[in-house]
Amino acid sequence: MSSHGEHTDFAPIPLKLAEQAQGAAVAVVSTKQNLLDLDREGMEKFFVETLGEQKFRAHQVMKWIHHRYVTDFEQMTDLGKNLRAKLQEHAEVVVPNVVFDKPSADGTHKWLLGMGVDGKNAVETVYIPDKGRGTLCVSSQVGCGLNCSFCSTATQGFNRNLTTAEIIGQVWITARHLGNVPAQIRRLTNVVMMGMGEPLLNFDNVVRAMNIMRDDLGYGLASKRVTLSTSGLVPMIDRLSTETDVALAISLHAPNDELRGQLIPLNRKYPVAELMASCVRYLRANKKRDSVTFEYTLMKGVNDQPEHARQLAQLMRKFDNAAQLKNAGKVNLIPFNPFPGTGYERSPEEDIRAFQKLLLDSGVLTMVRRTRGDDIDAACGQLKGQVMDRTRRQAEFKRKLQARGVGDAAA
Ligand code: SAH
Repeated sequence: MSSHGEHTDFAPIPLKLAEQAQGAAVAVVSTKQNLLDLDREGMEKFFVETLGEQKFRAHQVMKWIHHRYVTDFEQMTDLGKNLRAKLQEHAEVVVPNVVFDKPSADGTHKWLLGMGVDGKNAVETVYIPDKGRGTLCVSSQVGCGLNCSFCSTATQGFNRNLTTAEIIGQVWITARHLGNVPAQIRRLTNVVMMGMGEPLLNFDNVVRAMNIMRDDLGYGLASKRVTLSTSGLVPMIDRLSTETDVALAISLHAPNDELRGQLIPLNRKYPVAELMASCVRYLRANKKRDSVTFEYTLMKGVNDQPEHARQLAQLMRKFDNAAQLKNAGKVNLIPFNPFPGTGYERSPEEDIRAFQKLLLDSGVLTMVRRTRGDDIDAACGQLKGQVMDRTRRQAEFKRKLQARGVGDAAA
């Protein structure tokens, strides 16, 4: 793996995490409350405490925003003139702006959405229609600070956390485009927090946005249809279990600490055994949840050998035993999606099948996630957005590419 020599020289993690956890807030120019930032609880509080109105008014406004995509208070015709004036004075509904959107040949659709007052940043959101379901892949941060060696978002560096409005705004923009009407015209049936960023490092805003996704006054999705994917922040997984019962997906990608530490630097802080134990606790805390999904990106010659499949099967068996549930761990195999400048390659089809078969033969539920939207760079790990990088990682990545003789165009 000589071409991956850079995997070992990551900056120390604790400091980076601390920086991110403080969540570089956006400088808000407007003094008005953006109603897209509020879930039901926040809306009720705002209506009662700031506007001196009754709670049900908050519910009416939520429906205007999330069911009918109306942002202009004047068009909210079941509100009195007086309330409309108050709203005008104290509130606004600011949605992300569409920098561009692009359909893929296979029906996948990608949006580049401009975010907030620092308009130069943009994140990507992807809609993936499939038999009877429509899944939206939502971003949680501008860039990502975790620096996983096989992910294109990592090459962009990190800028800041997205606000709740910017997270739910991705759902709002795409749902409106799709003509989605919650509980009636269901074009958007699932959300996965699998876009750019590490959702658990933007905990409060992500939880609030997921509340709106799951609320009947919002997008009305059942908890099991909202999935949070994490690279494994153990304490935050525990915290998540106390606040919400969404589905949990873990980016595992390797069955042992040595290999996982090379792919995901965060593993050095939270090793596999601790991560698996936190998943057991997550299931225990959520009686309705009966499984955790483990994502495993298959990279040629790196983590796709029969010995890796055997170790993974063993890990899953141990997990089932600890959770005292059959098939508590489900494996989602993702063929690696290449991006400019990466040294990794996708595993050959026969190795992917053999890997899956070995797991299935050991009784582990294992799916292969078909690659979607790769013609528009919308597949897993290909999302880049526009990140005003504050970590200088883009510069490092460009330097490495140049040292390897990969031209500027690739960066
Ligand atoms: N930070 C969170 C959310 C991102 S999810 C997490 O790590 O879970 C994006 C998923 O795509 C993760 O499972 C990630 O590991 C996977 N992925 C990243 N780069 C990829 C690539 N080049 N090919 C295939 N999958 C990739």
